[in-house]
Amino acid sequence: MKQKKVSRRGFFKLLGTAGVVGVGATVSGCSNESAGGKGWMPSQYNVPANWPVQVKGRIPIDSNNVSIERDDAKCILCGQCLEVCRNVMSVYGYYELPVKKEIVCVNCGQCTLWCPTGAITERQDTAKVLTALDNPAVHVLVQTAPATRVSLGEEFGLPPGSIVQGKQVAALKALGFDAVLDTCFGADLTIMEEASELLERVKHPEHSLPQFTSCCPGWVKFVEYYYPDLMPHLSSCKSPQQMFGAVAKTYYAAKKQISPDHIVSVAVMPCTAKKFECQRPEMNAAGVEAKLPAVRDVDIVITTRELAQLLKKRGIDMNSLDSAEYDSILGETSGAGIIFGATGGVTEAAVRTAYHLSTAQDPPDSLLTWSPVRGLQGVKEATADIPGLGTVRVAVCHGLKNARELLAAVREKKAPWQFIEFMACPGGCIGGGGQPRTSLPPTDEVRKARIANLYKLDSALPAKRSSYQNQEIRQVYQEWLKEPLSEEAEALLHTRFVDRSDQLTAKR
Ligand code: SF4
Ligand code: SF4
Repeated sequence: MKQKKVSRRGFFKLLGTAGVVGVGATVSGCSNESAGGKGWMPSQYNVPANWPVQVKGRIPIDSNNVSIERDDAKCILCGQCLEVCRNVMSVYGYYELPVKKEIVCVNCGQCTLWCPTGAITERQDTAKVLTALDNPAVHVLVQTAPATRVSLGEEFGLPPGSIVQGKQVAALKALGFDAVLDTCFGADLTIMEEASELLERVKHPEHSLPQFTSCCPGWVKFVEYYYPDLMPHLSSCKSPQQMFGAVAKTYYAAKKQISPDHIVSVAVMPCTAKKFECQRPEMNAAGVEAKLPAVRDVDIVITTRELAQLLKKRGIDMNSLDSAEYDSILGETSGAGIIFGATGGVTEAAVRTAYHLSTAQDPPDSLLTWSPVRGLQGVKEATADIPGLGTVRVAVCHGLKNARELLAAVREKKAPWQFIEFMACPGGCIGGGGQPRTSLPPTDEVRKARIANLYKLDSALPAKRSSYQNQEIRQVYQEWLKEPLSEEAEALLHTRFVDRSDQLTAKR
């Protein structure tokens, strides 16, 4: 007789329902009452675990989650996803069960980096990219995030952190993109707006200080869920990805004489939350401007891992390609744009430009290698003396659990800082949930290698360390946006936020 196969997960399920004497299973994470409140201790699972392994449970994933998905057949209920979601991101366990409408998730994708079997992955969007590339009627452009240039090589056997900026561009051209452009341009644009906003907030104390960065979509959603009372502190700036997208389908479209509805805008990101960000309803500034409601600022986001899959699928060996240059326009970057990919990089970039906006001088060397905001310490602090602005105190934080202590200080009005950078993922974007699974779970050695090479790329641009020195940025203001915080810039580059706190309480 043919025997019916029972998967490991099915086996555990069997044990649970049969109530086998002497065999127990604990679903960890469900026992953390202090974090989650009611609903976090299903009594049927609250039994001692002593044989032969513990079934530790797993995070719930919404079927509508646009960033991550799970292949149940690969899941061994090891609980690694719970560990990172609860102990690094402080999301799992920080809401009531049963869920109200959606399973609370900030889309960071850290669980994809911790899952030992590869059961959790990003939601696949590579087929959409191939469909666009195979359509001769559309102009398909791609932007690449700062962090992917120091991680993509790991998917092709290179050591962690290897710089593959030029080879990545060449590989994308080989794939058939009509234009290969740089999200670092968007980062420089973000800094022009964000540093200008900081100056405004410091000069007008009625505005909320400290100013929080808003370029990390996982962090932004975290505030929307857990700290909506602090949303006025968030910079209204869109992220570099979304600023780039809005400018690509307006300014770039006009310069290249292409209708925005004939452009497919693709982004290669180290991040799974960017998939969520691009489909937020308000991210349609170009569509509003062109009166084409269906036009989105960014159409498709793929992770670094998905790009590697695409290249392998099309038989493109990145290592064998000669380096190529980004296209123009929207392809130029400053060093400041590049260090956006590391924790502390946004702060350093913002202070360099804030110094210039306040003094009309270039920042001193000490602000071009601002060591107090660099490194992997969970929370960093620094001060900068800026003539005309005074002493600016900043804090930098990565890993959302670390954010909670800073946010508590802000809530209690005990925060001494004017500016706080928050990044959801440990290490910043270089440690994003869409990055290569070079070590499992991710290690600081890999993060340090990637960060070191971003700073190396920054130093390699001695005449262009700050965002205001990017010539294409000067051009876009002259020809399109006028000046930072202008009416035109507000319409294209700034956004609003949504209170999601009602999702944290259980459905009654
Ligand atoms: S994506 Fe982030 S927040 Fe969502 S389940 Fe995974 S670790 Fe938790
Ligand atoms: S980490 Fe992966 S294998 Fe382990 S419980 Fe979570 S989804 Fe399942």
